[in-house]
Amino acid sequence: MGHVKLHIPGPVEVSEKTFRAFCTPMIGHRGQGFKDLYAKILPQLQALFHTRQLVYLSTSSAWGVMEGAIRNLVSKRVLCCMCGAFSDKWLDVAQRCGKQAEALKVDWGSPIRPEQVESKLATGQFDALTVIHNETSTGVMSPLAEIAALKRKYPEVMFIVDAVSSFSATKIEFDLLGIDVLLAGTQKALALPPGMAVFTCSPAALAKAATVKDRGYYFDFVEFQKNAESHMTPSTPSIGHVYALASKLEDIFGEGLEARYQRHAKLAQLARQWAGGHGFTLFPEKGYESLTLTCVNNGAKPGGRVVDAAKLQKLVKDQGFLIDGGYGKIKGTTFRISNMGDETEATMQALYSALDSALKQL
Ligand SMILES: *Cc1c(COP(=O)(O)O)cnc(C)c1O
Repeated sequence: MGHVKLHIPGPVEVSEKTFRAFCTPMIGHRGQGFKDLYAKILPQLQALFHTRQLVYLSTSSAWGVMEGAIRNLVSKRVLCCMCGAFSDKWLDVAQRCGKQAEALKVDWGSPIRPEQVESKLATGQFDALTVIHNETSTGVMSPLAEIAALKRKYPEVMFIVDAVSSFSATKIEFDLLGIDVLLAGTQKALALPPGMAVFTCSPAALAKAATVKDRGYYFDFVEFQKNAESHMTPSTPSIGHVYALASKLEDIFGEGLEARYQRHAKLAQLARQWAGGHGFTLFPEKGYESLTLTCVNNGAKPGGRVVDAAKLQKLVKDQGFLIDGGYGKIKGTTFRISNMGDETEATMQALYSALDSALKQL
C-alpha cells in the first residue's frame, strides 16, 4: 500500500511543496546565505507570534524548549497546570531537572481555569508556571487570555506557554497577552516535518534567564537571543527545516492569517458535527473544544456511541488515512481526528467518507 495520509494530531501531513523546500541543497549556517534566510523569515515569524521580540529556531522537538524553559526560568518553584498527558508530563520534566514543582491538576477533559491558577499563585510560592494552551491528548483548549491576564497581578511569575498544537491555527498575541515564553513544534499546525521548534521570550524572561544557574548550553535562552540578534542559532540548525519553514510562511501569508484561523475553526466545527451526527459525544467539556483536533468520546465518559476504536482505526487505515486511537489513559476510550495544517473542507470530507464506510463495517 502507498502512503497513509496523516490525520493524527502530529506529525501531520506534509505537502509536496514543503518537502521540496526541505530538500534545498545545504548552505553553511554561519554564512550570509543562512543569515539572509533567517532575516527573511523573522518578520513573518514575528507576525505569526504577534510579537516585536526575536523568534528563535531550536533544532529539537518541542520538548527541548519545554525543558529549556524550566532550566532557564525556574529558580524557586514552578506551578505545572495539568489537564492531560502533555501537561502532566511537564511536572515530571521539571522534577527531573531538579526543580521544585507543584501540580495544579484537573480531570482530563476539563480546561485549566484562571481562578484555579490564581489561588495557587496567591500563595507567593511560585516564580514560574507552565500551561498548555491546547492539550492535544484530550482535545481541550484552555482559556489562555484569561489565564494570561493574571500576569499583570503576578509580574514576577514567568508564564511559560506551550502552544505546540495550536500555534498558527488560532490567534495568540504574545506581546498583548504579556506572557513570557511561547513555544511550538513544527510538526503540528505548521505542517512541517518533526525536528524543529520555534519560540519567543519576553524581555523579562531573558533578564531572568541571565540570573539562573545551570541553564546548560543547548537550550540557553540567552545564547538564542545573542545569536538571533545576528540571524544565527547557537549551534548548527536543521537547515532543511528553515527552508521548509520559509516555504510554509509563504503559504500562510498567501492565505492570510485571519483566513487561516477561520479555516481551522470551521474545520473543527465540522469535525464536531461529524461526530455528533454519528451518535458520538465529545471528550472535552463543552465550550473548551480544540480548534485543531477533535477528541471523540468513545466510552471514557458516559453517554454517546462506543465502537472498537482499534478496529475503526484499522478500517480507516485500509482506505489510506491514519486517525489516532486515543492517547495515554484514554487510549481506545477516545479517538482523535486532526484538522490542523493544510486541510480543507474537501480533504476532511475525504476522511469522513472513509470513516463513514468504516463505521458501516463495525
Ligand atoms: C506534540 C506535543 C508536545 C510534544 O512535542 P514533541 O515534538 O514530541 O516534543 C508537547 N505539547 C503538546 C501540546 C503537543 O501536542
